[in-house]
Amino acid sequence: MFLSTFSAIKAKITLNDCLACSGCITSAESVLIAQQSQEEIFKVLRNNKLASATDQVVVVVSVSPQSRASLAARFGMSSSETGRRLTSFLKGLGVHHVFDTGFSRTFSLLESQQEFLERFQRKEQDKSALPMLTSACPGWICYAEKTHGEFILPYISTTRSPQQMMGSLVKDYFAEAQGLSPRQIFHVAVMPCYDKKLEASRPDFYLEEAESREVDLVITSGEVLSMLEQEKVILNEVKAAPLDELFSNVNGGELLSHAGGGSGGYLHHVFTHTAKQLFGEEVKELTYKTLKNKDFQEVTLEKDGVVVLRFASTYGFRNIQNLVQKLKRGKSPYHFVEVMACPSGCLNGGGQLKPLPDQTSKDLLQQVERLYKAETASLPEDDTRVSDLYHSWLHNVGAERARQLLRTQYHGVEKISNGLIIKW
Ligand code: SF4
Repeated sequence: MFLSTFSAIKAKITLNDCLACSGCITSAESVLIAQQSQEEIFKVLRNNKLASATDQVVVVVSVSPQSRASLAARFGMSSSETGRRLTSFLKGLGVHHVFDTGFSRTFSLLESQQEFLERFQRKEQDKSALPMLTSACPGWICYAEKTHGEFILPYISTTRSPQQMMGSLVKDYFAEAQGLSPRQIFHVAVMPCYDKKLEASRPDFYLEEAESREVDLVITSGEVLSMLEQEKVILNEVKAAPLDELFSNVNGGELLSHAGGGSGGYLHHVFTHTAKQLFGEEVKELTYKTLKNKDFQEVTLEKDGVVVLRFASTYGFRNIQNLVQKLKRGKSPYHFVEVMACPSGCLNGGGQLKPLPDQTSKDLLQQVERLYKAETASLPEDDTRVSDLYHSWLHNVGAERARQLLRTQYHGVEKISNGLIIKW
């Protein structure tokens, strides 16, 4: 992974604490990241305390399951218990709602399944319909837009990431239900990497009319730890609060997850859904074949001795580069690829908590993976609250608006040269 160094007053990105993207971030992007630190949320909460009731904003924090698992490992709790105590800590500071991006991920998984079926069916007429490359990782998107531009973009799924799906839910559905304008809500996402700050700042996620971003601020798991330290709070000593169930993937008071790896389970859910819908096969368990290394794996479905589906997961830039080269040479055998910039995926993101002095990175990652996987997996197709929202919310806004709320687009960027050599 190429590393980027720059200093900023608030969010400091160092060689050890880097972006997963190709590293050639512009100075404008470095400013966007520096503007997004935990100090911002403290400032908004302070202002709220001083403002009159009509001038206060509703503060919403959406926490990713990967960040929860990272904090759970540090404080020796289950992921759900961490969610409850984090809810209590944040509400104690003046946050109004604490949601779970596991809930918005259900939308991302369902849309990805749908988009893949559409692409599969037009693969003969449209040569760039497949492979469908996932889009939830902004490190990968940043690299694709800057390095491979128009060639690669048609292959990338247009489905929004869980962070930006939650942006739609909060600034559209929730705002309307509460009788608020999007500007009256300050929406914070807690994520495992710095790249998510760049994603939130994309013009595609800016609401022109309301002059508001769908996600106003992104802070990393590590920045949540800094908030706890600043407030002199030890998370496992905080009294637990009930979870905010409105936008949380929850059952019986416990947070649920999705099957598949720690990066969201895109490969798993698109594979099982397609196998059932197109080939009538119920796949209960996926068999991953490791190819060049553990970050490059393949899953296939055979029917009558013929491979009918060939999916892969490709993590880390070395593997991504190999994939892109294969695509350029017309030699990629895949229908679908889950692409993530960080080696080992999102649980190992650059914004996650660092190992303690007596811990190795490997041991910590294994612990975070265990905690993440300990949550019961739910099936996106079975989530009746999400299917109700598809009907009540999206049918009301009309097809074009529904497309804007659930999908996005990408833009080729002219190559920038900063004279640094990229080495992966
Ligand atoms: S793999 Fe995950 S943690 Fe790493 S840059 Fe991508 S989205 Fe962020």
